[in-house]
Parts: sequence; structure tokens; C-alpha cells
Amino acid sequence: MSEKILITGGNGLVGSALAEVYTPPPDQMGEFENKNIIRVGSAEYNLINKSEVNLMFMNHRPKKVIHAAARVGGLGSNMKYKGEYFYDNLMMNANVIDQARIWGVKKLVAFLTTCAFPAEVEYPLDHTKIHLGEPHESNFGYAYAKRMAEVQIRAYREQYRSLKYSCVIPTNIYGPNDNFSLEHGHVVPMLIHKLYKAQRDGTDFTVWGSGKPLREFIFSRDVAKLTQWVLDKYEGEAPLILSTSDEITIEHLVDLLVKEFKFKGKVKFDSSKPDGQYRKPSDNSLIKDLVPAFKFTPIEEGIKETVQWLKENYDEARW
Ligand code: GDP
Repeated sequence: MSEKILITGGNGLVGSALAEVYTPPPDQMGEFENKNIIRVGSAEYNLINKSEVNLMFMNHRPKKVIHAAARVGGLGSNMKYKGEYFYDNLMMNANVIDQARIWGVKKLVAFLTTCAFPAEVEYPLDHTKIHLGEPHESNFGYAYAKRMAEVQIRAYREQYRSLKYSCVIPTNIYGPNDNFSLEHGHVVPMLIHKLYKAQRDGTDFTVWGSGKPLREFIFSRDVAKLTQWVLDKYEGEAPLILSTSDEITIEHLVDLLVKEFKFKGKVKFDSSKPDGQYRKPSDNSLIKDLVPAFKFTPIEEGIKETVQWLKENYDEARW
């Protein structure tokens, strides 16, 4: 019998990809017990509240935890809600990691983000550089809260030697079941939603900023598969950057999306909107050395699947 795994943020972008990865195809179900994967969302437990986190562990008694819950959003949302992003993420991480320790969880994987890195640091970003300077001013509330999860895990590993807790640091994740908010979303889901509407309504398609910034995108299923590997196999201390290390410009992303939608309307770049950090290239050599056979989903395929997903699930999608 496999060990009980609790996934926080279970209905989010990563949580739903994890659910898929942990559920084998029907013909390979065998002895698999789905009840060993517990996905919890904000409707069930408010992770900012310590007693609810305690209750969550008491109710489910997991052996392992994937802590994917976070208060997240794109550039616009990060700029607007810095205080909330700081407090909510700090408290959620502190509570989940500490209650996991109290309830005897020996293995936990927590999510950081490449946004947590310093704004000015020598590229490429690697795990040794997380604390080497101030984060970008557009998202410092979120960034510092996320950095503290790394600090907490490092401190716990030093004090409580049996805990094999680790951090993963994905770049910009996209995929089915994302939050497609036109106000708070990340760039991929937001642009997909905008294009969907522009095509439906015959209007222009407006992109924020200059289109020049560079980003590294990773498909949610790839993040889920790598996280599953980390939970099962990795006991090291170093946070693992989950990244293709392929940078593309926002302009290039826009071209891919326009092509996927076969959009014939006008594409506009709105320079009154922010560009955010210009680039944040990352070094993925640690995870590549550990899982050399892993094949990342090409962005064209991931985009195709995500666009298709929104078209088929428009009425149920989150935003
Ligand atoms: P980030 O990677 O943490 O900065 O967050 P985002 O996923 O929100 O990506 C922000 C980048 O995409 C910036 O360079 C924005 O200027 C650019 N961008 C272009 N159009 C949009 C849009 O409609 N929404 C968002 N969130 N970003 C956009």
C-alpha cells in the first residue's frame, strides 16, 4: 500500500496536474489506491489559520506532503496586493511546514518561485543566489514570503535531522486548470483568455508592455512529474530549480498564441502597462543531472493543450 500524500493547493494549476500524474490510466490501475492522495483546497482549510492547519493534519494524517498552496497571481496582482501576498504566503508556509513537523511528516516538498530571486544578481539564477539581494520591487511582498519557506526548511533540516523537507523552484508555470483572470492572471492564461474574447468578439488583442521581456515557461504536467520524483527520490538539501532554461520573449509567446488561435485581428502592445522584470534566466543543471531522461513538453505542445482546454472548459474555468 502506498503512503498517504497530502497535496495543499489541490485544485490549483499544480494540484490538478499532480492529481493527473498520481492517477494511472484505467488499464494500469492495479492496486493503486486513489484514497491515498488527499487534495485539499482553500474551501476546506484556511491555511493562514494555524488551528485549521492542525485540524487538516489531524483529519488526514499524511506520511508525505506536497505544499503547493499559495496566494498567487501575475504581475498586476503582485503589484497591487503586496501586503496580502506577503502575509498570506508567509503564514501558510509557516503553518503547513511546522504542523507537518509536529504531525510526524518526514517528507515534504514546498514550492518557491524564481520571482523570489534578487532583481540584480549575476545570471543564470541558481539555488545559491536566492538571498543575495533585494527582489524586484514589483513583487517583493510575495518574493520575501516565499524566501522564508526556504529559510524555514533549511533551519528545520538542521535542527530536526530526520526531516527530509525540500523546496522546488519552478519558473513561470502554465497549463490546464490555471486561473484565467483578466486582472490577476499570469501572462499565459491571461493572454489566452484575452485572445479567446478578441476572437469571439472581433476586437483587438492587447498585450501589456513592450513585448521585449524574457521569461521561461514550464508546463504544469512537467512540474507535477518532477515534483513526484522529488517527493519519492530526493533527500538533498539544495532547492531544485524546475525549468527548461529556454527563454522566450513575450513577443514570441504572443506569436505562438496568435498562431494557435489562427487570430486574424489586430495585436497591440500597451506601453502604459508594466514590463516587470526584464528577464530571470535560470540554471536547471541540478534537476537535469538528477533526472537526465526527463523530457520537457515543448512550449508549442503545452500551449496547444492549454488553449484547447480553455475552449472546452470556458464556462467552468477559474478567473
Ligand atoms: P512574472 O513572470 O512574475 O513577471 O509574471 P507574469 O506571468 O504576469 O508575466 C509578466 C510579463 O508578461 C511582463 O513582462 C508583462 O509585461 C507581460 N505581459 C504581457 N501581457 C500580459 C498580460 O496580459 N498579463 C500579464 N500578467 N502579463 C503580461
